[in-house]
Amino acid sequence: MIIKYIDELQLTEQRVFMRVDFNVAFSEPGVISDDTRIRAALPTIRYALGQKAKLILASHCGRPKGKRDMKYSLKPIGERLAALLEDVDVLMPEDCIGDAVKKLSQDLQPGQIMLLENLRFHEEETANNEQFAKQLASLAEVYINDAFGTAHRAHASTSGMVQFMETKGAGFLMRKEIAALTQLLDSPERPFVGVLGGAKVSDKLGVIENLMNICDSLIIGGGMSYTFLAALGYSVGKSLLEKEKIHQAKRILERADTRKIPILLPVDHVVASACDAQATPSTTEDASVPDGMMGLDIGPKTISNFCEVISQAKTLFWNGPLGVFELAPFANGTLKIAQTIAKTKCMSVVGGGDSVAAIMKSGLADKISHISTGGGASLEFIEGKKLPGIVALES
Ligand code: AMP
Repeated sequence: MIIKYIDELQLTEQRVFMRVDFNVAFSEPGVISDDTRIRAALPTIRYALGQKAKLILASHCGRPKGKRDMKYSLKPIGERLAALLEDVDVLMPEDCIGDAVKKLSQDLQPGQIMLLENLRFHEEETANNEQFAKQLASLAEVYINDAFGTAHRAHASTSGMVQFMETKGAGFLMRKEIAALTQLLDSPERPFVGVLGGAKVSDKLGVIENLMNICDSLIIGGGMSYTFLAALGYSVGKSLLEKEKIHQAKRILERADTRKIPILLPVDHVVASACDAQATPSTTEDASVPDGMMGLDIGPKTISNFCEVISQAKTLFWNGPLGVFELAPFANGTLKIAQTIAKTKCMSVVGGGDSVAAIMKSGLADKISHISTGGGASLEFIEGKKLPGIVALES
């Protein structure tokens, strides 16, 4: 695939439409609790401003479902952006399309920013409506996508509008993400260990299949491990279980066995009668979960097994928590895995909100080679899927 990057394009005096991922977390309406995604886009934004571009930034935030719900307004994000950039004007129109926006884009001066209002205030954005895409495209001459977190969605701003732009390219964040994930897929130093957790096995079956082609061993924990344990005949009590996926889990385990790719599953668990911070946790002797109990975290023997394999890794990919890490009694396994990954000298890529949060909590984020800003997008990339937001940039 041939993609042009922003530093290969002529931006001076051009109106540049930059799709960014400002889908930040709010602790309460209007109060940003984590501005990592805004900061992650700053190098590309600063570069465009340095080139004297007339910069139009566009993003979605939350799920306003096509309604103008001001709880999801990008205004607080624009204010944070202005504070981070200091001496730069950030104009904030009331919408992302329409006459007023068009007029503002025409009057925009080199070095100025216009941050459009939430793209998802219009249902046409996620529907990838052609008219809406054309309206967005009419605002600028150059299109830059730096929103890796939404690159797996074929929406108007990530895909549909690109065909109407004369010049297109990717930003620096996109370049960093593509480079790190491509290195995993194409030239990983061995051994390559994949670590998968999280709730739903059905979401990650494709990733497991692809990781089996490229990894030397695969660690599966969290809620999804119970479908695999059930496939091996263990009792799983009240733990998360996707019964209709047991058959597929069995096939994966058989295939891994034939190909001599070890799949490590929990050999003990922290269990409780309910998924509740007040519940009294206990540890099982082995991989079985007693009747009436739920497996909510990996146990000490499992932590030790997993950490031994992780510490040998030269390349590592991690997505998904190994337990219900949001609740203190069940957070230990995920945190221990986060610490071990951070301490292992390897090319490490961590994606997905919970795994990234665990790494942040470990205080060792700077020891991770690449923290992906896109959980879903990085999984689809690893799965070997073509991401519409990247395909649209190819020429
Ligand atoms: P995912 O979005 O698939 O990565 O899932 C993340 C969620 O998985 C988190 O909210 C965790 O609380 C949850 N999770 C992890 N382990 C378990 C478990 N053993 N039982 C239930 N939920 C779990």
